Amino acid sequence: MIIVCPTCLAKNRVPEEKLSANPSCGQCHAALLPAAPIELNEQNFSQFISHSDLPVFIDLWAEWCGPCKMMAPHFAEVAKQNPQVIFAKINTEESLRLSSAFNVRSIPTLVLMNKTTEIARISGALRAPQLQQWLDQQLQAQS
Ligand SMILES: [Zn+2]
Repeated sequence: MIIVCPTCLAKNRVPEEKLSANPSCGQCHAALLPAAPIELNEQNFSQFISHSDLPVFIDLWAEWCGPCKMMAPHFAEVAKQNPQVIFAKINTEESLRLSSAFNVRSIPTLVLMNKTTEIARISGALRAPQLQQWLDQQLQAQS
């Protein structure tokens, strides 16, 4: 499957059985599936999302948002436990056009995407067990 490098945006072909073996980018050697959420913005979003063969789970957040900050460590924790999903964050203040394209009405908003298709979204801060449960439900509904 194709994994887009979160660092240089090169498209890497990774066999599915190698996904758990910490694959690195053929171009820049950065980790293709870092354990921590990656940053998406107006520069890298389309390229990343349209070519990635793994689902992408996006946290739309802002610096001033208390509940967003409360959720951040929970989101990072769940990211570590789900190597088959790419966890990403979008700073809604830095990526204004992108967040308005998402039609975000309140933050935090979490959006699960498969390529350019939105699968599901949920708003409000969730803790790790709730995040995991919600994600499992959406992924099961997909398969
Ligand atoms: Zn790279």
